[in-house]
Amino acid sequence: MIVVSTYLFDPFSYHDDIKREYYAEQAVLKAQQEAQKFDPVAEDYFTKNPPKMVYPDNGEMYFEAPVEAVIEPTLDPVIKDPLAKRSAKIAIVIDDVGMNRKWSKASIDLPAGVTLALLPYADKVREDAKAARERGHELIIHTPMEAMNPDLDYGGMSLMTSMSLKELSQAFDKITQTFDGYKGVNNHMGSKLTQDEDAMRQLMSILKTRQLYFLDSKTIHTSVAPQVAEDVGLPYAVRDVFLDHEDTPEYVAHALSEVERIAAEYGQAIAIGHPKENTIEALQKWLPTLKDKGFELVPMSELVVTP
Ligand SMILES: [Zn+2]
Repeated sequence: MIVVSTYLFDPFSYHDDIKREYYAEQAVLKAQQEAQKFDPVAEDYFTKNPPKMVYPDNGEMYFEAPVEAVIEPTLDPVIKDPLAKRSAKIAIVIDDVGMNRKWSKASIDLPAGVTLALLPYADKVREDAKAARERGHELIIHTPMEAMNPDLDYGGMSLMTSMSLKELSQAFDKITQTFDGYKGVNNHMGSKLTQDEDAMRQLMSILKTRQLYFLDSKTIHTSVAPQVAEDVGLPYAVRDVFLDHEDTPEYVAHALSEVERIAAEYGQAIAIGHPKENTIEALQKWLPTLKDKGFELVPMSELVVTP
């Protein structure tokens, strides 16, 4: 048995929650690499048992991500689908559609079949939803949910852990009235709310009655959303790859090759990107190449698991 731990310590203040979580993810990767020095099967172990991250919750000027994992010598092999390559499906989800007008429009203009997660508080959300449906995309509500970082702006429309279950239902109800034609929901931010079992249970129960699925954007590794969805019997999925943690053409290209690798290996992959120049320009070129490579672009709803 080996215990691995690494600490990521940043002396500066980060107001950007995503950036903060990205660094925490890097800490996990570092822990995985260290673990592999001790045990070559550690990667498989971590895939099934992601290390837990801890954030201070008091608005301090730093954060640290202690990562601890116990590696046991007897592990099940990762089961790969032998038919995966013949039927590999890929869902591409674009989050935050609505705020950046130029690149939101470019996201809507992508070849048919991507999934657009629209921000309910964007000014032209109804108009965008209509155009996206006509273009042949699937729509989901990019539902603002409370993050660990207390300084974020949610456009006055967010599900918070401080809400009673009734208030949470009312807030979600208001969000669902902002546009039409959606099939599911994913979280905008949400590193705090997706760890709150009661809030998740309440939301999942509402989604079930409305026949909507939940895509966990997985902004934090300790999200309880998948387990709660299993319990409630709600169709759900979990994001595999973020396409643009770093806003560079090199990062996006590497992330897209990672999407192909995962799809070829496991038969499916779910990627989330944003309305940014590097991401959308890469997708404009990459999406038309999928068919020849043996991949099928599918709407998100085709890759949800029904418990
Ligand atoms: Zn978002």
